[in-house]
Amino acid sequence: MTLINAAAIVKKNYRLDCESELLAGYLDKNFLIKTKQGEKFILKLSQAPSELLEAQNSLLGYIDKRDPSLNVQKVVPANNHLLLQNEIEGEAWNIRLLTYLEGQHFAEVNHTKGLMESLGGYLGRLTNAMNGFSHPEFKARTLEWDIQRTLLNRKYLDKISAPQDRKWVQYYMLQFNELVVPLLPDLRHSVIYGDANDRNILIKNESVNSVIDFGDAVYSQVINELAIAITYAVMGKEDPLGWAIPIVKGFHSQYPLEKNEIAVLYYLVAARLCISVCQSAKSKIEDPDNEYITVSEKPAWDLIRKWGKLNPGKVAKSFYQICGFSTEKTKSGKEITELRAKHISKTLSLSYRHPIQMESAAFQFMFDSGGKTYLDLVNNIMHVGHCHPKVVEAGRRQMAKLNTNTRYHYDLLTIYAENLCNYLPAKLNKIFLVNSGSAASDLAIRLAKNYTGRDKVMVMDHGYHGNTIADIEISPYKYQGKGGFPQSDKIIKASMPDEYRFKGKVEEFINEAKSQIDRSEKSISAFIVEPIVGCGGQVPLPRPYLKELFQHIKINGCLAIADEVQTGFGRVGTHFWAFEQQDAVPDILVLGKPIGNGHPLAAVITTPEIAGSFENGMEFFSSFGGNPVSCAIGNAVLEVIKEEELQSNALAMGSKMLQLLKELQSRYPMIGDVRGSGLFLGIELIRNENLDPATDGAKILINNMKDRGVLLSTDGPFNNVIKIKPPLCIDESDIDFFLNNLDKELQSLSEEFK
Ligand code: PMP
Repeated sequence: MTLINAAAIVKKNYRLDCESELLAGYLDKNFLIKTKQGEKFILKLSQAPSELLEAQNSLLGYIDKRDPSLNVQKVVPANNHLLLQNEIEGEAWNIRLLTYLEGQHFAEVNHTKGLMESLGGYLGRLTNAMNGFSHPEFKARTLEWDIQRTLLNRKYLDKISAPQDRKWVQYYMLQFNELVVPLLPDLRHSVIYGDANDRNILIKNESVNSVIDFGDAVYSQVINELAIAITYAVMGKEDPLGWAIPIVKGFHSQYPLEKNEIAVLYYLVAARLCISVCQSAKSKIEDPDNEYITVSEKPAWDLIRKWGKLNPGKVAKSFYQICGFSTEKTKSGKEITELRAKHISKTLSLSYRHPIQMESAAFQFMFDSGGKTYLDLVNNIMHVGHCHPKVVEAGRRQMAKLNTNTRYHYDLLTIYAENLCNYLPAKLNKIFLVNSGSAASDLAIRLAKNYTGRDKVMVMDHGYHGNTIADIEISPYKYQGKGGFPQSDKIIKASMPDEYRFKGKVEEFINEAKSQIDRSEKSISAFIVEPIVGCGGQVPLPRPYLKELFQHIKINGCLAIADEVQTGFGRVGTHFWAFEQQDAVPDILVLGKPIGNGHPLAAVITTPEIAGSFENGMEFFSSFGGNPVSCAIGNAVLEVIKEEELQSNALAMGSKMLQLLKELQSRYPMIGDVRGSGLFLGIELIRNENLDPATDGAKILINNMKDRGVLLSTDGPFNNVIKIKPPLCIDESDIDFFLNNLDKELQSLSEEFK
């Protein structure tokens, strides 16, 4: 770095004998100047365009005139010029001398809610003072730090190295594009100061006395001024919303906000955070030695994570309330239920005693209309996280370009087929794409019946495979349950080898199932089974059950169908597919739920031989199955699983959770068993040593956990197994949150059920 003799510059141009000290700075070079008489100034050397610096000078003059109590710096003239241009050490610099403002930096003082309100109030007054100021330089300015230009920072996304971090920025940029960009033109505009960060705010007598550095002043939406201030002021705080509210209050008291401005404030703060981390990522590469540039990087990332857990509706509501705006009355639970009953059949059940009205979601978090945030530990469909921006973008981009059917050639179909097959044993390489797990199971059975020429199907007790007529027939979970019917004579049912309730009896289960096959006299077309029986209560098939049975059915000329609708795509942690844990390769694989992360996509994958026998002249056609949009989404899901290493996260988080659940089990006799693999886990609740199921307890537990902000469900033959199957992106803090709440809930439940 060139050494600049600031004192000499001041002496020469301003005729002041002084000492100088270099201060930290972003782009400008700032020096503290102390004269012999004890006066202080700031010398600013800048390489920004002189027109812009002149605009800043006139803005400072304008503010000072309109409201001197704002104490903005004054520009000291040299020979009547507010701006000088000089060559220093071979470089051209613009030079300005500004008055020095006493006061402590916001970063150095004790933060109180009163201080926050004073910050908002100061910026409200500043906004009033700048009102009416116009300068072409500020209007023409395109600044990457300006919130309305957030999306310009997209080009730095690939400089954020961790995909688990990057996805949050992509998520917020997506929300910004969807929810904020269309509204921007209608928000009030003005020149804003635009840089109320904690090193630019000066405090005197426990309130904001001034702000410095107008280098980011720009013509933008007024509300961005407040959004920027909130972003920096709440960094490092445990309760960012609690600290943001007084800032909004203070601003509104001086410069009344409009409702449409408040409506987007949550996303504007998120946008400014995105800009900050993008700029840090860029600068770290361009200027690795400049520590000042990345000073807010860590707190910004921390805040992105915290902000992401806040319900956006709750944030808007809190801001409306503090500004005295009425908030829309949300519909009561009763109203919602009545509206639903009008057109929706009661056979579609609702979760929880008081069903939730959902509004939005982000990765593992869901937000309801009442302002609550939920940690979603149950939705295994949202495999890579709710509203994952890569998946959303892939679908929307392809939907805008082409959506057709498999009667045409398009690359995405073959690319997707190839990508998916890369995760499978070589023999499974023929794919049928459909739109639901039900359609996939149905087709799998059809393929098996067609290939073997047999019409019986062997199923696992308590198994579920879908909602078509054929699926219900092969799903004891349904036909044995309420509203069910007698088992079809085409069905052979194997008992579920539940290790917990029938310990050490695997061989008996294996032998029983084998002899059922033998007795069937080669009439069974297929055995369809989940490697971990989900609806059976998260029951992993004990080794070597699946291996031996798959071998045995092969000898009998029937096919093995693995239903991995729930367990596939890395969820079990150790492997990509649950059948791989069992050393048992199926002839037909049924996939659904996570495959499209919520987009209706499902698949049947089989061998060329089985697929070949299906080619009998009758066309197989699915209007939507394998369309380009589905394929684009399927590809994006695979990409995210790989990029974010979600399988190993499932293993790490699942193992941690299992271990902590086992600790809880040792403290609460109510927990009979904890089991599963990766992030496909179950907690079986019992009432006594006879293992009587605690069905009511499980129901109470999931309802109370919901009130505590954790979504879970129950299943199993007695509905006493708590199912855990979250998006694979959960982290340690989610596990801690879950376990702490579960501990408390089990404590009160144990009292109740004593
Ligand atoms: N198989 C299994 C194991 C399932 O869990 C489900 C859905 N719960 C299905 C098939 C049917 O899938 P879909 O609901 O997409 O039709």
